[in-house]
Amino acid sequence: MLIETTRLPFGVSRSYAGLARAEDPRTDPIAAQYIPTENERSHLPYESTDPIGDTRYLVTERLVHHYHDRALLLVSDRCATYCRFCFRRHFTGRGGGRISAQQLEEACGYLARTRVVKEILLSGGDPLMLSDNDLEQVMSRLKEVDSGYIIRVSTRMPVVMPARITEDLARMLGSFGSVWVVVHANHPWELTDEFRRGIRLLLGAGVPALNQSVLLRGVNDDADVLEQLFRGLVRSGVKPYYLFQGDLASGTAHFRVPLRRGMELMKELRKRLSGLALPTYAVDLPGGGKVPVESALLRTEEDAYVFRGPDGAEYRYPREGERPAY
Ligand code: SF4
Repeated sequence: MLIETTRLPFGVSRSYAGLARAEDPRTDPIAAQYIPTENERSHLPYESTDPIGDTRYLVTERLVHHYHDRALLLVSDRCATYCRFCFRRHFTGRGGGRISAQQLEEACGYLARTRVVKEILLSGGDPLMLSDNDLEQVMSRLKEVDSGYIIRVSTRMPVVMPARITEDLARMLGSFGSVWVVVHANHPWELTDEFRRGIRLLLGAGVPALNQSVLLRGVNDDADVLEQLFRGLVRSGVKPYYLFQGDLASGTAHFRVPLRRGMELMKELRKRLSGLALPTYAVDLPGGGKVPVESALLRTEEDAYVFRGPDGAEYRYPREGERPAY
């Protein structure tokens, strides 16, 4: 079944493409992340262009308020490299561009009226597609609403375009205080000298760094690869924070790893890694929010895993690759 609306643009930075090593790009863990394949044309009934339900929690055009104390501000729809497994397909690369002054004011107006949010996640797309000046303006306006905001900048730039992490950028981010950068590395080949240089600049400016990885078939669904990735991150000064089960995003089934396999990998990694290097294996329940797989799992049914969501309700996640799909 063809679903044109699931299409992401193709785009890759020169530096990221340069990390691919295998002769056949289909078997390369880096190339697989940016080269589109025919698999993206298939769509399963339980997949969606918005699998984690951002649009349900949109309170202004660019502000998503799902969790009580946190809000997500979509500051740009652009990325330096478009990941073929991207879960935010309803927004990423769709032409919305950078946040406008009016959209920012609408978001700040909501935050000022409600006064419950303590933490703002800048995301998109990639927030570091904004110039330093534009990003500084966004952050300054947020801090005008509440100088106590903790700001998280979720970005793949240290991986896909490490040259974007400059001394000026690090200094600007550090000048706000309570800013964290959340990196997205999926494979140890991504931890280059340039990556480490960028992280050193951030840490030197007082900006701590966490990492979120996605469990991806053919890329990192292997205990040795994940061990190398998580150890490499800690050595670089980055705390592995989450390992995400693949979201049920349209056209990404070929990347998803059966949940049972994910749990087996975590069991193996727990034997090998300290708490410092071990991330939480988490799943974003369709419509339900993010939960740790192991502690939120209630039971296994014939076709689905059943989880307790953050709101106390039960949510199902399909037993893909283990049983016939729905
Ligand atoms: S960098 Fe993030 S938002 Fe952009 S394509 Fe990759 S996963 Fe999606």
